[in-house]
Amino acid sequence: TPGLRVVLEGEDPASEVYVRNKDRAATGAGFDVDTVKLPASTSQAQLEECVAGLSADDAVHGILVQLPLPKGLDADAVLRQLAPSKDVDGLTAQNVAALVIGAPGHRPCTPAGCIELLDRHEIPIEGRQVTIIGRSMLVGKPLASLALARNATVTLCHSRTPKEDLIRHCQSADILVAAVGRARLVQGEWVKPGATVLDVGINRGEDGKLVGDVDY
Ligand code: NAP
Repeated sequence: TPGLRVVLEGEDPASEVYVRNKDRAATGAGFDVDTVKLPASTSQAQLEECVAGLSADDAVHGILVQLPLPKGLDADAVLRQLAPSKDVDGLTAQNVAALVIGAPGHRPCTPAGCIELLDRHEIPIEGRQVTIIGRSMLVGKPLASLALARNATVTLCHSRTPKEDLIRHCQSADILVAAVGRARLVQGEWVKPGATVLDVGINRGEDGKLVGDVDY
């Protein structure tokens, strides 16, 4: 039975929703899943010890450290305690390197999900212009590597991309991915007719409803 442990420190409401959904999905798939809930007062050393302990536990095959950690904690140092073979989010240096060189390893789920979504809708990737807004280690950068591995031409935009260039790169995209975290950033006139748009962003609008990064 696959053993999955989700490590959640603190009480970030969005993280609690994600963790609940992960628990439900993994339980439904027959996993032995447990969420290790740690109070926000847990120190860096205690958190690292917890992750190191799970890494050494033979009954545990996968570990998800829920990010972001509470302010003041060093996520990179925590990830260094995570056994790469159990790093099912693909965030350790070893798995990031495997992604970049195209070796087997765990791939981060959100960008892998973007590629899966394109494949299931039979949207070709090879030879096409893919513009990604956002360069985080969680979404933008790994997605760029995954799209490159599928022979796309990739452009990565970020907060320092001048607005006029951002719009130009978006307008040239066959596949446009918004992974920013800014409600309704991407406007209709930024999108080439016929282009495919993946809206990864999750934001709470002024009315309290969830909206993406794209203004529909
Ligand atoms: P993040 O770490 O905050 O990264 C945001 C990226 O957007 C950064 O690279 C930042 O540039 C860039 N950016 C910020 N403002 C910009 C602007 N005005 N123009 C262009 N680029 C801008 O966020 P993340 O973890 O990648 O997540 C991005 C969004 O996806 C969030 O809304 C998150 O909730 C959502 N998300 C969804 C899923 C899902 O399953 N659907 C999974 C993960 C995340 P700099 O690098 O220059 O700061």
